[in-house]
Amino acid sequence: MAVDLHSHSTASDGSERPSTLVERAAELGLGTLALTDHDTLEGIEEARKAADHLDLELISGAELSLDHVGGMHLVVLWLEPGPGPLQDRLGSLQNGRNLRNAEIVDLLADLGMPLTTDEIAAESGSGSVGRPHIAAVMMRKGYVQSIAEAFELWLAAGRPAYASRPRLSPEEAISLALESDGVPVLAHPHTLGINRAAEMADLLTRLRGAGLVGLEAMCAGYRRHERDGYADLARRFGLVPSGGSDYHGSYKPELELGVGYGDLEVPDSVVEELRTHRGAG
Ligand SMILES: [Zn+2]
Ligand SMILES: [Zn+2]
Repeated sequence: MAVDLHSHSTASDGSERPSTLVERAAELGLGTLALTDHDTLEGIEEARKAADHLDLELISGAELSLDHVGGMHLVVLWLEPGPGPLQDRLGSLQNGRNLRNAEIVDLLADLGMPLTTDEIAAESGSGSVGRPHIAAVMMRKGYVQSIAEAFELWLAAGRPAYASRPRLSPEEAISLALESDGVPVLAHPHTLGINRAAEMADLLTRLRGAGLVGLEAMCAGYRRHERDGYADLARRFGLVPSGGSDYHGSYKPELELGVGYGDLEVPDSVVEELRTHRGAG
């Protein structure tokens, strides 16, 4: 059965409720779905309730944005809601996220694109607010033609309405993940912007040393040779090649759970291999 180890719901910046996401995954015939919202486990309870009635294994998780030049995302699988070393830190990261959104709204107002926090909150539903929600409101108000344009012109790092927020270092995040019985996986490595093999090798040696378990090799949008290349790279550094669609609902049109843009396939065996690392911290 196909699996998907990276997805987002309304608990962060996806467009579908956690329960809808789980039902969709089951309808599509997935055997396992990991819900990995940005910096939050808020969607897990609802997702789990929905999964209990279905023939689907739900893996609780979160995707952390880390302090790294150019950005770095870490998917932590089997991170359960409730108290715990990493779970507790997610609360303070969430505060940072809210402060950042307020800063972006201020910057946009200065740039002649006023929007209100109510408009953004309405866009996000009940979940936490992120830049895609701000981009959607900008589009609705006619400031930009598309969400992509909102990022390219205004919201991306280095653009006029960009604001940073407090982040964990990669080492800190990996160690907190392991202490919390989670399994840390480096997400979509192409976004690290590393082109030199030696630089990638240094980074993976460093993160493996810190306890990194997996590396996403099977990402939507990768060509077959890229997936194979990243899988080889993972194995060379003792990491498990993982993957998923990074589904965001209508915020990433044409991207489907499980299959990505149609050709994604993450085998069951990945789940079993990652699972053996649970509680290894
Ligand atoms: Zn990501
Ligand atoms: Zn993601």
